[in-house]
Amino acid sequence: MILSVHFLFGAAVGGALNNPTLGLPIALASHYMLDSLPHREYSIDNVENISVVGWHKAVIDLFKVAFDFFAGLVVLILLLPSSASLPWLMLFGFLACVPDGLSFLHFLTKKNNLLTKHLNFHKRIHIHQIKEETSWGFGIIFQVLAVISSVVFLLSLS
Ligand SMILES: [Zn+2]
Repeated sequence: MILSVHFLFGAAVGGALNNPTLGLPIALASHYMLDSLPHREYSIDNVENISVVGWHKAVIDLFKVAFDFFAGLVVLILLLPSSASLPWLMLFGFLACVPDGLSFLHFLTKKNNLLTKHLNFHKRIHIHQIKEETSWGFGIIFQVLAVISSVVFLLSLS
């Protein structure tokens, strides 16, 4: 799923638990849970092949990723009740994005065994190994539902 959905959902579930000891691992685990649902996302082929194509060819994809991440952060800041703890929610949201960050580190190095094992796990968790096997309509609906549930959780925080 796209990063802004992971960020918002991680912040929402982490915040809803109201217990950082639980919230931190659950926010991280939420990434894999959401990725196991059917989804489609924008192409980042040049990022996935950055070790071959180089940074200059991946710039546009990296901008897409950065915009996606900061969109989640902006929505969180806009929605958040003033009584809620922004730093904790940002940490939960950040943790929910870490698995994709680990995949990016693998794309950069391709040589670290732990990162390779993580990438294989991260890929296996996806219901379809080939993104195009999920239609756009079906691929977007679960992301919309994840955002709606995140918004409901975030608005109920106090
Ligand atoms: Zn992922």
